[in-house]
Amino acid sequence: MAQQAVEIAGMERVIIIGSGPAGLTAAVYAARANLRPLVLAGGLYGGQLMLTTDVENYPGFPEGIMGPDLMIRFREQAERFGARIENVDVTSVDFTQTPLVVRTPDAQHEAETVIVATGANAKWLDIPGEELLRGRGVSSCATCDGAFFRDKRIVVVGGGDSALEEALFLTRFGKQVTIVHRRDRLRASKIMGDRALSHEKIDFIWNTVVEEVLGDTHVVGLRLRDLLEDRAYDLKADALFIAIGHTPNTAVFQGQLDLDEMGYVASPDGTSTNVEGVFVAGDVNDFRYRQAVTAAGAGCRAAMDAEKYLEAHEFKVDLLARP
Ligand code: NAP
Repeated sequence: MAQQAVEIAGMERVIIIGSGPAGLTAAVYAARANLRPLVLAGGLYGGQLMLTTDVENYPGFPEGIMGPDLMIRFREQAERFGARIENVDVTSVDFTQTPLVVRTPDAQHEAETVIVATGANAKWLDIPGEELLRGRGVSSCATCDGAFFRDKRIVVVGGGDSALEEALFLTRFGKQVTIVHRRDRLRASKIMGDRALSHEKIDFIWNTVVEEVLGDTHVVGLRLRDLLEDRAYDLKADALFIAIGHTPNTAVFQGQLDLDEMGYVASPDGTSTNVEGVFVAGDVNDFRYRQAVTAAGAGCRAAMDAEKYLEAHEFKVDLLARP
């Protein structure tokens, strides 16, 4: 098989990997600091907000904004100040040497600093109707979407701390919140379990899975299967919140960056990593808040720390000599 030619690209001051709110905010800050960041945005740029509809909790948009529209604005803002954004996936990195090496299918880049902002993906059930009705009743974020379901029948899937936290939050809006869990006991911590089990608005359906989301334009119900009786039945519902965990996008950093036991990039202070010159921002490091605004804040911090690092190390890269 013919080998594809790999371009050996020039030295960069900052490479940003990822293009959600963390990556693109880092790009705005790095670009405005005259660092001409190269953003390797991923084949599907824009992150989790590309999969959502209305965003009502991002400050500055009192009428709300569609998730993809918000990400286009982030991108335009970064480009306005000189960020170069390429919609390519990173295939491997080598952080054992200086300069740092970042590879894509067609190029090998070298960089003085790298900001890792690859995010985390919510796990989905992969059942019929789920993808079609995402943003129309199917959600993975109660903080983002709960307020759309005032006095509605809400179902949450999962038995971990996230599911119970989401369910407890959703009691502020829903008429009733039903937790559907595939086993007969919770994985969540006892304190969260006790809170949910004793809440008057929360009920549980045990030993049951969701097999299908019903509805054409919005969620009208769910097809459930009782695993003990092997019996399928329909439940009326207006919303399905899926809270079965997240997967941080850290596969290419394994063996290169310290990851915690859940696979998130470990950081003692929220921006630095175990490798000098490599910084982290957003959901790839943060399983707790997972908000666009917190990720954007983290991107800002990472870019400012990268800039300080560059200043402190007085790298002598002749930016003008670059083609
Ligand atoms: P998790 O602890 O891994 O729980 C995932 C839950 O989803 C489990 O109950 C699991 O069922 C269920 N599940 C997984 N795949 C499923 C599928 N395909 N169909 C149906 N159910 C499925 O994930 P998490 O709740 O997101 O928590 C992740 C970590 O963050 C945990 O360490 C947690 O303690 C922490 N966290 C803490 C807080 C807090 O302290 N306030 C809040 C959120 C998260 P099984 O139980 O049968 O495996």
